[in-house]
Amino acid sequence: MNKTAHIISHSHWDREWYLPFEKHRYYYIQLMNNLIEQFKKDGNDFQSFHLDGQTVLLEDYFAVHPENRDIVKQMIKEKKLHIGPWYVLQDAFLTSSEANVRNLQIGLNDTKIYGPAAKIGYFPDTFGIYGQAPQLLKQAGIDTAAFGRGVKPTGFNNTVSDTLNFESPYSEMLWESPDGSSVLGILFANWYSNGNEIPVDEEEAKAFWDQKLQDAEKYASTNQLLFMNGCDHQPLQKTIPEAIETATSLYPDYQFKHSSFEEYTEELKASLPDQLQVIKGELRNQRTDGWSTLVNTASSRIYLKQWNNLCQTLLEKIAEPLATMQYLAGGTYPREYIRFMWKSLMKNHPHDSICGCSVDEVHREMVTRFETVSQMGDVFVKEKAGELAESIDTSQAPAGGIPLVVMNTTGWEKNEVVTKVVDLEKVYFSQMHFEEIPDYLQKKETPGYKLLDDEGNDVELMLGNLNIEFDYDLPNDRFRQPFFAKRAELSFFAEGIPSFGYKTFYIVPTETQEQKHDEETKNTGEMHNTVFKMENEYVHMHFHEDGTYDLTHKKTGERFYRLGIYEDTGDVGNEYMYKEAENHAPITTKGVPAVFNLIEKDNLRTVLEFTHTLSIPVSADDYLASERHKLIWHKERKAGRSAEMTSLTLRTVVTLEKGMKGPSFKLMIDNQATDHRLRVLFPTGLKTETHMVDSIFEIATRPNTPEKEWENPSFCHHQQRFSSLADDKMGLTIATDGLQEYEILQETGTIAVTVLRSVAELGDWGYFPTPEAQCLGMQTAEWQVLPHEKDVIHSQAYVDAYQYKVPLVIVQTTIHEGRLQNTHKFVNTKSNGLVWSSMKVAEDHGDVIIRWYNPSEAKDSLKVTIGDYESYKSTILEEKTNQKEDVYNVGKYEIISLGFIKKR
Ligand SMILES: [Zn+2]
Repeated sequence: MNKTAHIISHSHWDREWYLPFEKHRYYYIQLMNNLIEQFKKDGNDFQSFHLDGQTVLLEDYFAVHPENRDIVKQMIKEKKLHIGPWYVLQDAFLTSSEANVRNLQIGLNDTKIYGPAAKIGYFPDTFGIYGQAPQLLKQAGIDTAAFGRGVKPTGFNNTVSDTLNFESPYSEMLWESPDGSSVLGILFANWYSNGNEIPVDEEEAKAFWDQKLQDAEKYASTNQLLFMNGCDHQPLQKTIPEAIETATSLYPDYQFKHSSFEEYTEELKASLPDQLQVIKGELRNQRTDGWSTLVNTASSRIYLKQWNNLCQTLLEKIAEPLATMQYLAGGTYPREYIRFMWKSLMKNHPHDSICGCSVDEVHREMVTRFETVSQMGDVFVKEKAGELAESIDTSQAPAGGIPLVVMNTTGWEKNEVVTKVVDLEKVYFSQMHFEEIPDYLQKKETPGYKLLDDEGNDVELMLGNLNIEFDYDLPNDRFRQPFFAKRAELSFFAEGIPSFGYKTFYIVPTETQEQKHDEETKNTGEMHNTVFKMENEYVHMHFHEDGTYDLTHKKTGERFYRLGIYEDTGDVGNEYMYKEAENHAPITTKGVPAVFNLIEKDNLRTVLEFTHTLSIPVSADDYLASERHKLIWHKERKAGRSAEMTSLTLRTVVTLEKGMKGPSFKLMIDNQATDHRLRVLFPTGLKTETHMVDSIFEIATRPNTPEKEWENPSFCHHQQRFSSLADDKMGLTIATDGLQEYEILQETGTIAVTVLRSVAELGDWGYFPTPEAQCLGMQTAEWQVLPHEKDVIHSQAYVDAYQYKVPLVIVQTTIHEGRLQNTHKFVNTKSNGLVWSSMKVAEDHGDVIIRWYNPSEAKDSLKVTIGDYESYKSTILEEKTNQKEDVYNVGKYEIISLGFIKKR
């Protein structure tokens, strides 16, 4: 016997996809019940089942069958049922760096309740994987990863097609991160279904195994062959013991084994050849014809990506660091609540969910889940910020002063214009009959106000939109307290707000009468065909009639010309892939006059609005419907665009504030057309071969043009927060808010960012209509344009790009004594250019954990101090190591987590 056939029983369980969650769960419950029944049987020799690498499936089962908790635990303990390490099978590129870490932390934490975890980085169906995955897994003590895509071409039916474009000759390879960490990579070269439905009947088994053994041996580098007995939502094959018996009798040279990943990888590692192919960095199907990469899930239902960016930012960049600051100030850290928020959010992270490639019901449920996460995050931040403000000593406030605490929850100092609705005067229902309060407040004279910083310096303020409004307090020891307040919108430039810290300002009444409201200083009005300019201390903008603008970087005088063209093309593809409608030139706003309207111009900001009305085809032509019904593969589709036209109204609001390194944009699209894609184009004119892009714990460098095998005319990519082009002198970075697809158009050095994609079917193995993926009605898109010297890393423009859409937290508090000073910085950090990622308290102990990564190939160092805490180097799983330094060396592209423990 010289060869072993490892048969691993499993079912790849997309929680929601071509059916909504509860419908898929119905079948999943049956699978689990069958599995339990099988294990219970006397003399059963069903050895092992792999529960798809995601612990959420246990929650999904116990919600219906809590009475089976013990027997399932027993199965896990006996290593019959293999669980973890992830919480969900997430999309790797459309969820944040931290979400990818938390998915592992929370999944492994769950396994502690149930039993041992499968120590394998399991990415069976993941639509491409980020390059830092080996480093992340290595830091979690996992040295093997298994994946189905990224290295070799995949076909429509999800099988790896039989071409010679190998990147690895074997299904086994070494996969290496940019920092040099590597893991053993196992490619499901014949997909994760290559051992599905194994026949028991001798004749059928012979035909099956003759083919399957040959297929596996074609790629296997050892005599250990892997057969995955399962597929998507595959019911349990109870007859595996009998099927193994048949196979054993047919092939005496093979040992057939009902195996697990643990057994398989152990035997595999013992027999690996000395030389395995090393695959470096991102796995993105780049050595394929480009028609099956599934990359355009990055622009399917963009509203989901926007929701996700909002919720991720709320949890990881605001709620957690804020709660940690409050913890360092002596408060408690509600880790269970935070974990619950994360779990709720991560239920939207499975690949078929966040990718927007499911049926409409699925995505409607997702919006509700996002809403609940943002509700939890909002109340959490409000309460935690209030608690922190309570600990600050504001007793030295000037007479009549209203303290306003501006909190920075990020790892970088902030200087930005903030706007906050403040209560200038409040009357509780307990103080006066409620019907009388509005009149009382209305009649009461409003004084003028000035704003002082923590050192008593005057800060320029704008106060407007005076209103009398109902509201209430919810004290934690008394009944609710309703009141009316005289409110105003306060704007000012919050300068030097320390990282992981706060600064207190005071609104102080002045002798003078009610000051001029900002409306009076606003200079508004409609403008037609007029040259319009915007300027702050960093950039100058000159607008053209068609809404494009020349952007000057003031420090160098370098200029980019005619940025911001909108481009509309037909899309006859599906939720997975974009397919441009043939023989229809793109329709753009180039030369199409826009209607301009100046909204605001004062010392703090200029806001300009312009509107385009673009005439575009109302839909694809009639041919598309028949192509969809006949399941014509997107690549082969001949459908064009309809001759009937409709108007697409594009309203763009540009804002340039004091302190901003570049203008920010909000586009409002009134989408009345179907089957199309809208992008915003930034023709930089820069001549480069590569560009840089924000990925997972990495600012990746990618080529502007594809490999020779690539046939798809479209060469789109995923991004997290930004993409960037630069030559030796200048660069342009586009930071976005949940816009996760871009393309580089090499000829003009253009960054093209997708702002809307409208399609009407799922794609994949059948016809599943998804009319809501047309995204009709009002859609929005937001981005910031950042010009800079050199590239995004050397200029550290990434700091601004990462800070985009991460707001300061502003709390109005009362005058009271407290333990904390007016202005404080909880954490002091020093490095040349590390990227801050998170700050939290550990999942199962009381140490503070802060994480950064090095975006560069240059080594860096990191010195961090927190009051009476001492630091140590932590693993990514928040385990303590013996490494304690004053200054930590940080290797190229290293992800570094430090733990902080209170000195005794
Ligand atoms: Zn899947």
